[in-house]
Amino acid sequence: MNSSRPIIALYPGSFDPVTLGHEDIARRTLKVVDKVVVAVAHTSTHSKRLAFPVEERLEMLNEVFADDDRIECASFQGLMVEFAKAVGASVVVRGLRAVSDFEYEFQMAQMNRELHPGMEFIFLTPETHLSFLSASLVREVSALGGDVSSFVSPAIMRRLRDRYQRQGA
Ligand code: ADP
Repeated sequence: MNSSRPIIALYPGSFDPVTLGHEDIARRTLKVVDKVVVAVAHTSTHSKRLAFPVEERLEMLNEVFADDDRIECASFQGLMVEFAKAVGASVVVRGLRAVSDFEYEFQMAQMNRELHPGMEFIFLTPETHLSFLSASLVREVSALGGDVSSFVSPAIMRRLRDRYQRQGA
């Protein structure tokens, strides 16, 4: 895209687990940048009941994005903007599903811009059929034995079955 200096975007999140909505956003981001770093945050800004440890969430990201070497997966501790700088990202991408995401994302972007004035924030919307999907919904439905195979990759489906059959909800 830019022959002198590749544009790198950081896509941070919990990815607990990675869903087809997250995959859609990461792959879509490659239409506007050269490389995407999808990164699992060790600390969530939302208080969430988590299903998978960070290491397993990272393994799952590596599995679903193994087909594209323009997508790299990582995990990070501490401030997202510091990690963005460390990986050479000039852009942070987030997904917007509905108006309900907007207020939180807007607030975070403004705060992060204060912390790192050079950083740009872009927001992408997924395919319509993925716009209601959240990882927390996937966790809840899986825990109750529901079928989420339309919303996650087959590799993630196997992990969810293991997680909820092995340990119970
Ligand atoms: P979730 O909100 O599903 O628990 P994360 O906290 O991992 O997911 O979210 C990381 C980013 O991905 C956020 O910007 C979130 O808005 C976005 N995202 C999550 N699911 C979707 C989806 N189905 N479509 C578009 N963006 C999404």
